[in-house]
Amino acid sequence: MSNPSILILPGDGIGPEVMAEVRKIIDWFGAKRDLAFDVSEDLVGGAAYDKHGVPLADETMAKAQEVDAVLLGAVGGPKYDVLDFSVKPERGLLRLRKEMDLFANLRPAQCFDALADFSSLKKDVVAGLDIMIVRELTSGVYFGEPRGIFNEGNERVGINTQRYTESEIERVARAAFELAMRRNKKLCSMEKANVMESGILWREVVTRVGQDYPEVELSHMYADNGAMQLVRAPKQFDVIVTDNLFGDILSDCAAMLTGSLGMLPSASLGAPMENGRPKAMYEPVHGSAPDIAGQGKANPIACILSFAMALRYSFDQGDEATRLETAIEKVLADGVRTADLMGPEGGVPVSTSEMGDKIVAALDASL
Ligand code: NAD
Repeated sequence: MSNPSILILPGDGIGPEVMAEVRKIIDWFGAKRDLAFDVSEDLVGGAAYDKHGVPLADETMAKAQEVDAVLLGAVGGPKYDVLDFSVKPERGLLRLRKEMDLFANLRPAQCFDALADFSSLKKDVVAGLDIMIVRELTSGVYFGEPRGIFNEGNERVGINTQRYTESEIERVARAAFELAMRRNKKLCSMEKANVMESGILWREVVTRVGQDYPEVELSHMYADNGAMQLVRAPKQFDVIVTDNLFGDILSDCAAMLTGSLGMLPSASLGAPMENGRPKAMYEPVHGSAPDIAGQGKANPIACILSFAMALRYSFDQGDEATRLETAIEKVLADGVRTADLMGPEGGVPVSTSEMGDKIVAALDASL
């Protein structure tokens, strides 16, 4: 059988720098765990625009549709700010999400003990936190029609439409229940069924899908209360499922409980392919960080943790994903820090590539 395939799209700014560290980790798993991948690499974002005049070439899109998983760095930068909207670097990313139909966005909020002081919340509220927000990514108010700014009498009106079909709700609910089954069998669905019809339908469909997962403890919460609960007592949650708009806000809120942007991975999953694996793209939450690009200052952990998610959700290697996460935890516990993780007590930060090397050394020590 051929090796599982990965398409790497490093992108712009710090994207190539953090992705170089992911390559070290991928190579380690091939050499030391007999887990080889067929890795190819291509351009996206500004880098693709510079070569092809578009932020994602058709051939790259076709490759992304064929591989088992896409790993993306980051796109964008000041150089491209003047470009027409249709060829801006972000359009490459949006095209990937849209054409791969990646409807379930997984955003973990995990607080490593060594970094608990970085949160704006009290240490005991966040220490040991490990929750996952599943956000619907391809429908809802960001896509619903009608939308636009229209004339109405002698003034203008701005319109967006929240719209969800039952099947759109069902597929993301199913993804969330499946995830809950792999974790602690606890799922909280968030909407505003008290004031929105789409919320009433959302709650109905999630409840119905839940009948197929009797082992999962399902609860419902209004999204505004959910936001309050996330900052009051986040550890009450395990998996949260919610729509595109609420998910956008709640996942950013939850992510920041853990401190630094340089630590946050994500996964976007679509329907299963013929081989049973879901269409999938993994990427750090952060952008291309032009302010530190090319200086060896970027924290590669968000990107490496995104690869850990790929191991778990695309390649069914949960134990190896845990091995990688534990190695990162160990490195942080040893006090190794990139510049973004330096506390007020100071110290000497390691470079992007030194952080990658330390994680590889911790992986070696795990054998
Ligand atoms: P950003 O995430 O790039 O940076 C915000 C701040 O966080 C900066 O100070 C940066 O130095 C720091 N930072 C981010 N990642 C870091 C890391 N791994 N290690 C250390 N520090 C890190 O957001 P921005 O500055 O608003 O945007 C910069 C560019 O990135 C823009 O062109 C924007 O459109 C693009 N962007 C792309 C994505 C993506 O590719 N998914 C996401 C957000 C922004």
